[in-house]
Amino acid sequence: MDKPKLKKWQEPVNIKSYPMGSTCDSDHLTSINAGWRTYKPVIDHEKCIHCLRCFLVCPDGVIDKLKENLEIDYDYCKGCGICAYECPVKCIEMVKEEK
Ligand code: SF4
Ligand code: SF4
Repeated sequence: MDKPKLKKWQEPVNIKSYPMGSTCDSDHLTSINAGWRTYKPVIDHEKCIHCLRCFLVCPDGVIDKLKENLEIDYDYCKGCGICAYECPVKCIEMVKEEK
């Protein structure tokens, strides 16, 4: 899976540089997870039935389904736990991050 484009944050130089309205360019992420995630999802591949529900519900689109086993991109996963909540066979465990 190709990673999203990562654009360096440009400090606005004046008021016109700030995004206006409710939307702005969304073809990129400005940063990877900077270490603030408390829990991370871990998939038990033995129990996974490949229903792809986690892939469909992940709000950040960080679950890769192209390989034999699903793969979570921890650079961008925010640890929201939606995938674990929605997994029908409960094979995604939210594991506390270690320092
Ligand atoms: S914890 Fe949230 S962001 Fe991370 S893979 Fe699951 S649904 Fe996606
Ligand atoms: S929701 Fe659970 S069973 Fe379905 S593909 Fe994801 S990890 Fe596997």
